[in-house]
Amino acid sequence: MKFFVGSRPPPSSWDLLESWLDELIFEKLWKRFERWGKIFLIRASVVIAIFIFFALSFLPARITKSAILSVPGIHETYEWLFLNKSENMSAESIRKQLGYLGGNFALSFIYSLDSVKTEEERTQILNDTDLLGPQIIGFETINIPDDKLANILRETIPKGFLYNVKKIIYEDRESASLIMIFYGFSFKPTSSANPLTKNITVFCQWNAIQIKIVRELLAHEIAHLNDWNSNSLLTREERLKLLCDVLERLGAKDRYVSCYVEYISPKNESLKKYMRATEYWAEINGEYMSPVGEARNLPPKDTEIIEDVLQKMDPCYFQKIDDWQRQSR
Ligand SMILES: [Zn+2]
Repeated sequence: MKFFVGSRPPPSSWDLLESWLDELIFEKLWKRFERWGKIFLIRASVVIAIFIFFALSFLPARITKSAILSVPGIHETYEWLFLNKSENMSAESIRKQLGYLGGNFALSFIYSLDSVKTEEERTQILNDTDLLGPQIIGFETINIPDDKLANILRETIPKGFLYNVKKIIYEDRESASLIMIFYGFSFKPTSSANPLTKNITVFCQWNAIQIKIVRELLAHEIAHLNDWNSNSLLTREERLKLLCDVLERLGAKDRYVSCYVEYISPKNESLKKYMRATEYWAEINGEYMSPVGEARNLPPKDTEIIEDVLQKMDPCYFQKIDDWQRQSR
């Protein structure tokens, strides 16, 4: 028995196997987990979040609503979906036209961003607002004086439209190239509008950018900040109606044809319709507000939708344009 004093008994083959397993499997696994586990956990939670979002999008409206209401903070967004019958009906028609994914996407903007509650509130805001327009920054770089551009905008864009724009910035660089899952192709935007900051950015794209092009770009981008997502001077019901009207035009045979809109093709059909509607509204406004003297090429129904909104945004708009055209002749 001396043999064993001060030393461990020789390991049995079972012990050997166990320690080998320990080392080979558990230690390695643990090290790998330490190294990759955290990344895996982050990825897994992103995947689970996306899965829940998609699952909710395909559930029937009532189940979706109760699931969404259980998430703190989103309650306000959806609670009044069921308050007013006509709103409820337009919301459901948008869900039907766009499918649940695009429908929920559109509704989440309409319900979460600011809206006036009544026409009177809109009139009050428009009366109380001095027409200073958005802050213009950086266009002097391309030989367009900032105050000249500000004047043109004040004289040619409806007051309410300008109320919804905070800053218009020229950046003397190309925009980053984006792989646009929302658009189905990648491109470098010439200009962009941010519905959350309410800022518009125009990027350097050509050596010489002319005021005419700037105006066309701005008409498009300003329209983005005045669509059903972002126009805080429309009531929620008016915003729902505007989206329904534009979706209807998008499916009409006599719709305005813009190559840009027709080219938008993300894989998801419901997203495709939603993105096309968003750009359709901006394109028809760009055409409507094209520089004075150029022929407009808009079907009457599109003109009607635009003028209905313009009237709300600036009751003196048409008079203002008449005056502007007389002056510039
Ligand atoms: Zn656009």
